Amino acid sequence: MHMRTLIANATVFNGARFLPGTSVLFDDESIIGVEADLDARGDCRVIDGRSHTLLPGLIDAHVHTPSILGFAESSLRNAVVFGVTTVIDLGAEPAVVAAMKARAAVTPAFADLRSAGVVATAPGGHPLELGGELPTLSRPEEAPAFVAARVADGSDFLKIILEDGTTYGIESPTFDYPVVEALTKAGHDAGLLVVAHAAGQGFARWAIRAGVDVLAHAVVDEPPASDVVSALADRGTAVMSTLTVFEAAERHQLWTDPRVATYLEPSFLERLSEHVAPKHRPATQIENGLRFIRACHDAGVPILAGTDAPNPATAPGASLHRELQLLVESGFSTADALAAATSRPAGVFGLRDRGRIAAGLRSDLVLVAGEVERDISHTLEIRNVWRQGVEVERVRHQ
Ligand SMILES: [Zn+2]
Repeated sequence: MHMRTLIANATVFNGARFLPGTSVLFDDESIIGVEADLDARGDCRVIDGRSHTLLPGLIDAHVHTPSILGFAESSLRNAVVFGVTTVIDLGAEPAVVAAMKARAAVTPAFADLRSAGVVATAPGGHPLELGGELPTLSRPEEAPAFVAARVADGSDFLKIILEDGTTYGIESPTFDYPVVEALTKAGHDAGLLVVAHAAGQGFARWAIRAGVDVLAHAVVDEPPASDVVSALADRGTAVMSTLTVFEAAERHQLWTDPRVATYLEPSFLERLSEHVAPKHRPATQIENGLRFIRACHDAGVPILAGTDAPNPATAPGASLHRELQLLVESGFSTADALAAATSRPAGVFGLRDRGRIAAGLRSDLVLVAGEVERDISHTLEIRNVWRQGVEVERVRHQ
């Protein structure tokens, strides 16, 4: 016997549009029905959904799982507390990813994840300036063996780093173009989706020319170039927005919002308020990023909402809500912004069982107070989060 829950008469965002006066019945396996009048017969918890909006469990399309298991647990726990039930990890320790996938499979307390695992970077390239060691490559002929090792590690997709350090105000070695092309081909030959970190306009051109499937960031070093935007649109290349990681804490002020501060673990709250020197995160980045994402969206490029949490001035879970606000600031409708954090990343990453509210899909759900359709900031008015139909406890930290 499965515990069933009925949310009655809510506004339901189904992954594409808002359905007023709609009820959703679900159990700990899946969504049973989505209709105006659903029968609550039998053993069933009933929640009055009037003046509330029900969302699919949110998907953060760009995070990093910390390499220490305890931090990885906190990171994925904070994500769920903020309604982020699935994350796409753009670079992490394969053993930690495997451990967290196993945990997410048995407890609703941690967000489920898909991961690039070890990223492809040049010797000494980003993110090695932060310390640690990674296998690297520098010649095109090394690409197939590099990709085979990622498949053996359990990587769900391939990530290629194209970064000369400009984005961070440092200097970094990076790949020559032929390596990018060879890695993209090797990834595709292995059946992997290929994602490129290319936050500079020149590198974005390389990535598009090589045929990658997704850009991991908005282009932020220059205002958007029309040839880049139209090439992305023509090829159907998706873009992870990651506007939050280019925004200074002084601009977003997210840590001062009691809806964030109450539920975010203190270490992450501190990280969210961290000052980043303008040398490493110039104000032009967020301005260029907002314009780039708007131009891409207007041209029909699929945008995926991602945060790059937990980089400085971001935090797991909480920052995705800021990302939604920034998408709306850049010109998205509230429905388009929410699709970027639900159905669209699910589609791009082949997660067919989630990202929408429809019968038969996983019961990953977030109930928030108010009409999100009119005001995107209501996504922070979280009342309940369910992962696979089990309500997640939201612990108060202050
Ligand atoms: Zn990243």
